[in-house]
Amino acid sequence: MVGKMMVSRFMEPYKMQYQQEDIPQIEDNDILIRVKACGICGSDLVYYNGKSPLDTPDGKGPLILGHEFSGVVAEVGATARKMGLFAPGDRVAVNPVQQCNACPACMRGEFNECSHLEVVGTMVDGAMAEYVKAKYTHVHKIPDEIPFRYAALAEPLACATHAVQRLDVQLGQTVVVYGVGGIGLMMTQLVRAAGAGKVIVVARKDFGLGKARECGATHVINNSDVNSPDYAQDVAARIREINAGRLADRVILATGNMSALQDALNVSAPCSTIVYFGQAGEKDILQVPVLATLKSEKTLKFSWLAPLVWDNVFRLLASGQVNLAPIITHTFSLADAEAGIRFMLESKEPKVKGVILVDPEQ
Ligand SMILES: [Zn+2]
Ligand SMILES: [Zn+2]
Repeated sequence: MVGKMMVSRFMEPYKMQYQQEDIPQIEDNDILIRVKACGICGSDLVYYNGKSPLDTPDGKGPLILGHEFSGVVAEVGATARKMGLFAPGDRVAVNPVQQCNACPACMRGEFNECSHLEVVGTMVDGAMAEYVKAKYTHVHKIPDEIPFRYAALAEPLACATHAVQRLDVQLGQTVVVYGVGGIGLMMTQLVRAAGAGKVIVVARKDFGLGKARECGATHVINNSDVNSPDYAQDVAARIREINAGRLADRVILATGNMSALQDALNVSAPCSTIVYFGQAGEKDILQVPVLATLKSEKTLKFSWLAPLVWDNVFRLLASGQVNLAPIITHTFSLADAEAGIRFMLESKEPKVKGVILVDPEQ
């Protein structure tokens, strides 16, 4: 499609430019998407402040950020057209983590470990723009009942879903969730859906803990603010109080906070499973007491990206098992994308997740 579009392009740390550019030209395997909504991810914030440990082509920019998005099909490349897969106007969300499907990792289905990943919005231009292109294999039609602003969060929900699948919750178990960002609140809902009995959410701010209650937490613990009614200095002791003397069967972390990562080892029961998910720094090291951990036969897992869960994600949203309404606390226009990123990065105002409504009707 030939024409112009508005974009908010990340130029260099602390600098984005709202400007007119050409609409991207698609190749045979691409789909062009008119963007409706685009989530602001924690990783967008660290790109913006120049501290991302992940790769853009040259480390910093210029690049159009935005990897969590939904929209409508604007143009269909030759391959998908031949198969009759998409038509202009189709409502879609995109899996931005585009694997090659040809390397040994891909042959094993370990798409998150593909050695030729092309990630929309972190390696190639993303969705803080009126149009974006993606490979047809990673464009997914969404049910009509899912609003675009929720469908835009399919990617973080996919990451949360993959992590919770790795947590392997058994019916009735007591699960501890660390973190009350968007992903932590999604995990809170998902562990409930997976059959957890008690769901105890641990975080530093009461606003987020209130959100966690809305998302199905049966108990909350503030591990930082001594003025909070939910404050506990000794999180493990508080969990024992809540849980008839026993520590947690499952612990999942949606935070990069090292003291939380460390604490997970203290609040988990013998034979428990811990899943680590969250933005870690390159130099972060987890200290695992080997003898105590092996005697208690704990399973420590890590979770990265979201292979093979996208179909589940749309079903979770369509069925209402996951409700994103309490999670989206702020919306911005495309022209205000940079202001939105700065707000999410710097504002002290209570907030969870910001979404850019590229089409203001959404
Ligand atoms: Zn993200
Ligand atoms: Zn591959």
